[in-house]
Amino acid sequence: MDLIKASLAEISQAVRTKKISALEVTKFFLERSKKLNPTLNAFICFDETAELQATAIDQKIYQGENPGPLAGVPWGIKDMFCTKGLKTTAASKILENFIPPYDATVVSQLKKNGAVILGKLNQDEFAMGSSNENSYFGAVKNPWNLNCVPGGSSGGSAAALATRMVPASTGTDTGGSIRQPANFCGVVGIKPTYGRISRYGIIAYASSLDQAGPLTNSVTDAALALELMCGKDMKDATCSSQPVPEWSKNLNSSMKSVRVGVLKEYMQDGGLHADVQKTVEKSLSELKALGAEIIEVSVPLTKYAVPMYYLIAASEASSNLSRYDGVRYGHRSNFQSLANLELGEFYSKTRGEGFGEEVKRRIMLGTYCLSSGYYEAYYNKAGQVRRLLRDQFIAAFNQCDVILSPVTAAPAFQLQERISDPLQMYLNDIFTVSTNLAGLPGMSVPFGFSEKKLPIGIQLMAAHFQEQKMLNVGLALESISGMKGLVANV
Ligand code: GLN
Repeated sequence: MDLIKASLAEISQAVRTKKISALEVTKFFLERSKKLNPTLNAFICFDETAELQATAIDQKIYQGENPGPLAGVPWGIKDMFCTKGLKTTAASKILENFIPPYDATVVSQLKKNGAVILGKLNQDEFAMGSSNENSYFGAVKNPWNLNCVPGGSSGGSAAALATRMVPASTGTDTGGSIRQPANFCGVVGIKPTYGRISRYGIIAYASSLDQAGPLTNSVTDAALALELMCGKDMKDATCSSQPVPEWSKNLNSSMKSVRVGVLKEYMQDGGLHADVQKTVEKSLSELKALGAEIIEVSVPLTKYAVPMYYLIAASEASSNLSRYDGVRYGHRSNFQSLANLELGEFYSKTRGEGFGEEVKRRIMLGTYCLSSGYYEAYYNKAGQVRRLLRDQFIAAFNQCDVILSPVTAAPAFQLQERISDPLQMYLNDIFTVSTNLAGLPGMSVPFGFSEKKLPIGIQLMAAHFQEQKMLNVGLALESISGMKGLVANV
């Protein structure tokens, strides 16, 4: 079988019916990953037990058991997810040698469904970034153009997938970190409604915004992967108890009487790259030709989304990251003796060495916003506006089934191009952060290439818990684009 082209369901079906063993599948992807990794830097480490995991799946099959719908499918896991016995670094020096004693719920769910964990994927440090250049382990390269960024923060997850180092990967999305790299690398990426997926065992960045999701080669794979990752978890109090629908079985690309909303605010400022503008316009006219109704909607508060997001994300990050103090785990500065040391010095040396520049910037910004006297003016105020933004989105979704927009204003940019200008980098998230602020589901589907042959995706958003609507429109776009399953050759 052609493992490069096969869907997740096809791989697992072939493994379950013994057409190919899980071990053969794992060996194939492991070998491919190890060959391509020096070029792309997508993996931080490989799981030495991958072949053993695969053999265990094969044994189950030979004993007549069903290992589940992901039987023998190798997965790459973003290094934000704790993996039992396997190094988990969040791409930070401060966690360089951290080996968790437990699996994140997402990881145990994947394993329970038969997946094989191939290794841990590179990312921006603590998922802070839009280009994957903030990793302690070095930048990831965009497989369509090695001089460009793959997008961040789940850059390793997207680059590994676009080159089929793995058939599927996990990402986390606090303000766009699944959708944006999926967009830059030409793959499908989904962030479901906040609370759909357990955050237990995922290294915390900004808890009220963080949400995991899958990156895949097709919408059908995405629907299946998402189903298996979602569901109530007693270990995460914010995890929703809403039933998880069988999205993959209910996929329907008919666009008859589907109402596609276009956000007035996203299309009017004229800041879009011509290739992105053309791609969005084409997606709308194609959907219209299939019978969809295109409706203009308005969410005026999206204009404050970037400042709101960076204020809330930095505040929550400063609090979440206070746990890395060099006492319980992680990096500790190499002190001659702890005897006469001031506690403040212990912390500041350890944290000063352990965190990268962008992470420190966020900690400082967040600490400032949360400090006495400023809390009300900044964090609290942002929270109030956030609530209004959510209400405006809910009103907009009374008029339409999905909202369609660009994912980013331009295709992938050059490595080094924006790294010294944080504000420029933050503005890259202008179209993605609103879904996180409002807790909505969002996805990126590849829909074309720029003149310079870089992939361009379309973002779809839906009302809370309406992932099916978004997946259906995604499927329609995928069937028009001809980009399903494209592999970047490096
Ligand atoms: N680029 C955004 C940030 O740096 C989003 C990152 C993310 O979604 N994890 O915060």
